[in-house]
Amino acid sequence: MNIVVLGPPGVGKGTYAKRLSEILKIPHISTGDMLREEIKKGSELGRKVKGYVERGELVPDEIMIEVIKERISQRDCEKGFILDGFPRTLKQAQALDSITKIDIALNFLAPKEVIIERLSGRRICKRCGAIYHIKNMPPKRPGVCDICGGPLYQREDDKPEVIERRLEVYKNTMKPVEDYYRDKGILITIDASAGVEEVVKSCLKVLKEKGLLSD
Ligand SMILES: [Zn+2]
Repeated sequence: MNIVVLGPPGVGKGTYAKRLSEILKIPHISTGDMLREEIKKGSELGRKVKGYVERGELVPDEIMIEVIKERISQRDCEKGFILDGFPRTLKQAQALDSITKIDIALNFLAPKEVIIERLSGRRICKRCGAIYHIKNMPPKRPGVCDICGGPLYQREDDKPEVIERRLEVYKNTMKPVEDYYRDKGILITIDASAGVEEVVKSCLKVLKEKGLLSD
């Protein structure tokens, strides 16, 4: 079962994809994580994409398509995969169709207020990268990492005024991708304003209804 997950920043699609990956036993392929990993390793690919990632720009389609092609041809993808962070453009969506068949695109949506609350409460450890939320997952001591004792900070990206802009940019750039999957009849909107387990449950329900998953 080949799944694509879509949704604005802060909607939590990475979290849902990870849970679904455990349940369905197919890999969660996060292109963001993959690229960061390559950059950290200093591989040829990593060196190629470093500048784009650091500037917050989209990596060119040709490079991304090669990366995906390579990744989904690996053995752990035999029974399918959950693609997160790709496609980001209509051209990528079309290119993806030329290398594999996507069964379903799960489009996670939540009201703007919910997303702003989720993102603006996020705090990250400067030392180890652990992620907290001042309301939903607070550290034991405010501003201090439970794991390593490092200082917590708020990403510039997670400030409310920046979030609004990010959401606007997302909406505009992803509209053609959503339309593309809608026209193919495989775009499913999932209400992501509920808790993680509930959201995951609605995904499984949809997969069953679509005949992609047996009971
Ligand atoms: Zn830490």
